[in-house]
Amino acid sequence: MNITVDDHSGFCFGVVNAIKKAEEELAKGNSLYCLGDIVHNTREVVRLSEQGLITINEEQYKALHDATVLLRAHGAPPEIYEIAKENNITLIDATCPVVLRLQKRIKKSFLESRANPQDKQIVIYGKKGHAEVLGLMGQTEGKGIVIEKLEDVKNIDLTRSIILYSQTTKSHEEYLRIIDYIKANIKKGLSFDYYDTICTQVRNRMPHIKVFGANHDLIFFVSGKKSSNGRMLYKGCKEVNNNTYFIDSCSDIDLNILKKFSNIGICGATSTPTWQMHEIANYIKEQCPNSNTEIDK
Ligand code: SF4
Repeated sequence: MNITVDDHSGFCFGVVNAIKKAEEELAKGNSLYCLGDIVHNTREVVRLSEQGLITINEEQYKALHDATVLLRAHGAPPEIYEIAKENNITLIDATCPVVLRLQKRIKKSFLESRANPQDKQIVIYGKKGHAEVLGLMGQTEGKGIVIEKLEDVKNIDLTRSIILYSQTTKSHEEYLRIIDYIKANIKKGLSFDYYDTICTQVRNRMPHIKVFGANHDLIFFVSGKKSSNGRMLYKGCKEVNNNTYFIDSCSDIDLNILKKFSNIGICGATSTPTWQMHEIANYIKEQCPNSNTEIDK
């Protein structure tokens, strides 16, 4: 049996940067809070909590005073920064530069369109309630419209001009379908400006994961259940290889399946730590002592 760990899977640079900032601060022996899970991966959240990172929700954040809080790669809406000023909270801002750029672009569009609010709608293709989307919506004072999929386009008024952005981790294929639909159906003479704001770290992984998935008999896709990027990449992998299983830990593996396959691939999302994929590989190796482990570069 051959087990291959995909070298292209694992943390994107935004997540690497946030974790590095957290570890540096914790190494100084300081208390550090993180607003929301630092990454959508429970195992990594637990690993960092063992080093002292305290994860808090928004309610707990509002009640906090005189403390240091890390803002994760997803970014945060403006009110979070205002609360920090009022409550003497020191922020370690680990918002990914790609997300930060997108926030600024949306804010600029919002301020420009405010002169004529009845005419222009700012639309964000993203997951409702997702931390990044809350940060993006905050740039529009909550006046943007979030659509999660093509069918949601019916929530947009096609008799008004549209400015369209995407959350950085959404599906590129679905975004193109949404753009085509609006182009074809918006009232003639109105403007429709759309921007390709899907992160290249995410976009480049889909074609790779499909090749990786197709080249193996059995795939274990390792990801936290809350990761939207994880769900999207898993879906892409499953499309090319029906023997793809979404797992979060070794205990999710059905050992009977292993007997049927000889070429096993292990891959994951931008929020999956490399150590977790290797942990799965080592576990399979223990169960099947005649196996080899490789790294797919
Ligand atoms: S997926 Fe892209 S935008 Fe999101 S945190 Fe990672 S690098 Fe930044």
